[in-house]
Amino acid sequence: MFKKNASVPALLKKLHAEYPSPECALVHESPLQLVVATILSAQCTDERVNKVTPALFKRYKTAKDFAESRPVELESLIRSTGFYHNKAKSIRGMAKLLVEKFGGHVPQLMSELLELPGVARKTANVVLGVAYKKAEGVVVDTHVMRLSNRLGLTGETTPEKIEKDLMKIIPREDWIWFSHAIIHHGRRVCKARNPACPDCPLLKLCPRNGVAV
Ligand code: SF4
Repeated sequence: MFKKNASVPALLKKLHAEYPSPECALVHESPLQLVVATILSAQCTDERVNKVTPALFKRYKTAKDFAESRPVELESLIRSTGFYHNKAKSIRGMAKLLVEKFGGHVPQLMSELLELPGVARKTANVVLGVAYKKAEGVVVDTHVMRLSNRLGLTGETTPEKIEKDLMKIIPREDWIWFSHAIIHHGRRVCKARNPACPDCPLLKLCPRNGVAV
């Protein structure tokens, strides 16, 4: 049952103290590399993606390179991230549109990012927040979904509705930071199975209060 968190400001303050400057775990050196890495991160760990991208980014350096890549070769380089056929299709389609419509550059508008194949709000928010430092929304991935529910920040279950709830209760200047902080906390403490509630620094501010989730 949904238990609303009655102390969001205190929760954010504690999160800030625990995770003052969390960073995006996907290794990248440009907005293009970040888009590709984020597409690859679907249904895959960031750790696995980071093992694949060095060789990938060495082989393909520009949007044109990705757009003109041979599907078989691209697929072989990203195979271990899973769903490689669809991911390769998205990457090639995304890169093709970048070349045809955006001069080979990753756009900085949410509406334009959402035109790119394989790019939904999560990826667009990652790119806008991390690469361009623009807070247009809140990244909602599997960790943010799980923890937002456990922490009583939303009772919703779809990423779109969860993002809307989070945007209402979290100050805009915290939108980019919040997702990274929550993702770190989800990986380290509030894991999907067996969350470490007794050791959790948020225990007193969590509506679950250590009760098994
Ligand atoms: S107290 Fe437990 S459920 Fe709440 S945030 Fe911490 S680990 Fe997650």
